Amino acid sequence: MPQELSEIVADVCRDVKDRIGSGRVADYIPALANIDPRKFGISIMTCDGETVSAGDADEPFSIQSVSKVFTLTLALERIGPVLWSRIGREPTGSAFNSIVQLEHEAGIPRNPLINAGAIVVTDVLLEGQGPRQTIDEIVSFLRHRADDVSVAVDAEVARSERETGDRNASLAHFMRGFGNIKGEVDDVLSVYFQQCAIAMSCRQLARAGLFLAHAGSDPLSKEQVVSEARARRINAIMMSCGHYDASGDFAFHVGLPGKSGVGGGILAIAPRRAAIAVWSPGLNEVGNSLVGSLALERLSALTGWSVF
Ligand code: GLU
Repeated sequence: MPQELSEIVADVCRDVKDRIGSGRVADYIPALANIDPRKFGISIMTCDGETVSAGDADEPFSIQSVSKVFTLTLALERIGPVLWSRIGREPTGSAFNSIVQLEHEAGIPRNPLINAGAIVVTDVLLEGQGPRQTIDEIVSFLRHRADDVSVAVDAEVARSERETGDRNASLAHFMRGFGNIKGEVDDVLSVYFQQCAIAMSCRQLARAGLFLAHAGSDPLSKEQVVSEARARRINAIMMSCGHYDASGDFAFHVGLPGKSGVGGGILAIAPRRAAIAVWSPGLNEVGNSLVGSLALERLSALTGWSVF
């Protein structure tokens, strides 16, 4: 990488500047519809401890499905590979909240990063404890990983999700009918809606994901969060399944494991180099941040960080 990282980030910001504000803010969760579409933030935290941020990198936003990476991490640590008897590891080719595949595949979701799969992951985390303890466990994990106690659930977004969550409720009931949800659907959904409604800034998110860029260990605190093999596998799932049914396109253009959320955030991992978080609320037609994806494409081209 011939240029300084700060110069590269400045170039990325300049390259996407004219596109900021494009895309469509998610409005199926009413509390997300009011976000200013012109927000744009980026934060990169390297394995050497360097941080470069720009734009609205310190403003908390709704992480939505980016939370699925962290709940997957917790569930794998809790029950290990037996998780894969209840969830697959294949891309879907269907929308993030689709129910059609579930019937053919007997209530086993395709992967843990679509809604159905993440709902099963949440059900795993609920085993042996109540919804309050479970959401506390998830928030504590994120606070610890982000090294910031201010990470919290946005109660208004959580309420808004619950009020409009019929499709997620259908997925949960459908899977319970197949025996793949063990807890009460209301409890599972309560935790799922709250985990999606966690608010974090780009800086916090990049910090929280850093262990995935560093073979499972946090290079700053030196904690081994997950084994190296597990970190590699979580990254593999992010690469193949992290961008809904545009995961192939993201791999093609960016070439980094990543997970997007309908709040407009994306966490991307450059293995052995850095964790990157971007935020821009306008989404493309598949539901991924339009400007966030462009920024990551430019960043990957300028740094040469693509894994391919
Ligand atoms: N809470 C959202 C939902 O379940 C998450 C969607 C997303 O970010 O993919 O509908």
